[in-house]
Amino acid sequence: MTTMYYEADAKPELLMSKKIAILGYGSQGHAHALNLHDAGYDVRVGLRMDSSSVLKAEEAGLKVLSIADACAEADVIMVLVPDTEQKRTYDSDIAPHLTAGKCLLFAHGFNIRFNLINPPADVDVAMVAPKGPGHLVRRTYLEGGGVPSLIAVHHDATGQAHAIALAYAHGIGATRAGVLETTFTEETETDLFGEQAVLCGGVSALVRAGYETLVEAGYQPESAYFECLHELKLIVDLMYEEGITGMRFSVSDTAEYGDLTRGPRVINESVKKEMKQILTEIQDGTFAAEWILENEIGRPRYRELRDAGKRHPIEDIGTKLRDMMPFVSAGKQKVSEISGGDTD
Ligand code: NAD
Ligand code: MG
Repeated sequence: MTTMYYEADAKPELLMSKKIAILGYGSQGHAHALNLHDAGYDVRVGLRMDSSSVLKAEEAGLKVLSIADACAEADVIMVLVPDTEQKRTYDSDIAPHLTAGKCLLFAHGFNIRFNLINPPADVDVAMVAPKGPGHLVRRTYLEGGGVPSLIAVHHDATGQAHAIALAYAHGIGATRAGVLETTFTEETETDLFGEQAVLCGGVSALVRAGYETLVEAGYQPESAYFECLHELKLIVDLMYEEGITGMRFSVSDTAEYGDLTRGPRVINESVKKEMKQILTEIQDGTFAAEWILENEIGRPRYRELRDAGKRHPIEDIGTKLRDMMPFVSAGKQKVSEISGGDTD
């Protein structure tokens, strides 16, 4: 049974009497801290005191403390440092202050799901995970909306873990859009699968393969870029607004017939078999172990692959073409003006 929560389901007053620490002031951190602060909650941001974010957060009117001091003061602690740093931060600065009855929150279940962080039994552990980047969590909040989010309870020590997490979701604007009940396991595994197979990995590989196919066949790179990358947003916007059927209604009959008959040849059984393998590697911890090790040895493969990606010809042609269409990134500028920016 699916359970969704909206504005009326939350009890924001539960959180009003609590001290909240937001650890980190990046994509999610700045949005959660500012939204909760605007909503009248008692927020402090926990940062490394040499971080360039200290000034940004203070200039935005927020109280800033060291991570350890923020955790010592707070009743509710939201961990928004990068997933790969959370275990270290937890061991050194959070755990010593995690006294009975406090509530530890996450925006992604990775460290709990893969047993990197094991909080004591007398502490609440829950998740409020926005299904969108932090800049949208902030922007939609200011516009009166919110980003749909997931809620999950890993451990309920006080009997209030769920109610506190839901009040927190309300505070960042998520109950305006809808908050879906899930588990740490489901959130972590579907999130990793989505970004690997479809959203980031799948889509960028699809775009590049299409671009390469056209260019290798002798077509102009400009033409290949417009077809395989630029137009993608227009199609995805239609899917976002109206679903796949709605998108098909808007494109020509020729496009739709090509979609129906050729799409399954591109994303065929062998692709789906590979997707299942990718999911298995997420579920059995292979991916997590690989990524943890990659971080421990200083990310050599990550950097090599990222650099190779930047050297792909689609990047150069894209930079040139987008320079001629400044309106394309106008929305992006607006986002960065509103928010405090990404990381330090
Ligand atoms: P981020 O990289 O944008 O920001 C991380 C923040 O932590 C920055 O303020 C940085 O200064 C600070 N930081 C970095 N290293 C640190 C360290 N070693 N010790 C202390 N502070 C450190 O991170 P993010 O994308 O906001 O992710 C935070 C959490 O939110 C993660 O669990 C992530 O999975 C989750 N999440 C992110 C998104 C997203 O779209 N960005 C969406 C949903 C959930
Ligand atoms: Mg995700």
